[in-house]
Amino acid sequence: MSAVVRNLKPETASAKIELRDVCLSYFTPEGETEALSQVSFMLAPGEFVSLIGQSGCGKSTLLSLIAGLIAPTSGAVMIDGHAVTEPNPRIGYMLQQDYLFEWRTILDNVMLGAEIQGRRDARSEARAVHLLEKCGLGAFLTHTPRQLSGGMRQRAALARTLATEPDVILLDEPFSALDSQTRLAISDEVVDILRREGKTVVLVTHDIGEAIAMTDRVIVLSRRPGRLKSQYRIHYGDGARPTPFQARSRPEFNTYFKQLWDELDVHVEG
Ligand code: ADP
Ligand code: MG
Repeated sequence: MSAVVRNLKPETASAKIELRDVCLSYFTPEGETEALSQVSFMLAPGEFVSLIGQSGCGKSTLLSLIAGLIAPTSGAVMIDGHAVTEPNPRIGYMLQQDYLFEWRTILDNVMLGAEIQGRRDARSEARAVHLLEKCGLGAFLTHTPRQLSGGMRQRAALARTLATEPDVILLDEPFSALDSQTRLAISDEVVDILRREGKTVVLVTHDIGEAIAMTDRVIVLSRRPGRLKSQYRIHYGDGARPTPFQARSRPEFNTYFKQLWDELDVHVEG
């Protein structure tokens, strides 16, 4: 039921994202920090994967590599079989802070990408409105971010990420600034939207439960330098996949949780 998946080798040709022996060292005046070592994995189109590991193990670094914001020291990052060499507009990146502009309305925040690309027109505006409606914000188009709750702001940030029509979405601890109840509610909404849109998603989280409840596969990184430690395919029986909220009350959830907890080898200092 919960076998660790080793030597996972989907067809290279059909991979949406592929990392091949990726190493990344940061060079600063203080010296070299080896953040990632020999990381290889693939994501099929439409797969929803989470990345967990202890703080400082290189999770955010890995997303920056996929986004093309930094280049690997050695190895290669491929999207659709092409090496990533620069930031790619087909990749949407969403961070813990929502970075909404307080002086812009919610609609104008979502229109930002289209504006920057010089294509703010009736079509892009209709899409933005449609996305905001799907994110439950149809009645808040002309509000400013300040007038919204934390969960609503993150949904607005998600709509903005989706507005430029990326097919890969990178989420870096997107819910960690929210209270636990909002987190649970927004997890369901975000998963629903991203799965319906058929996006390929990498979710970075330090929350084991979130990873098991939301994603198809959990990739575990070792302590720094981050190496691929193990991968778990998440299955909840043969029926339709439960929502993240429902998943938490399934017996499989606890089994995976225990395994991943042991895998992460969490120690409390002191
Ligand atoms: P995580 O997201 O898993 O907490 P990061 O990817 O942010 O980890 O960082 C991995 C390691 O690389 C950490 O030791 C961090 O201090 C270091 N690091 C991250 N960004 C930089 C940078 N720009 N310059 C130097 N070191 C960095
Ligand atoms: Mg991080």
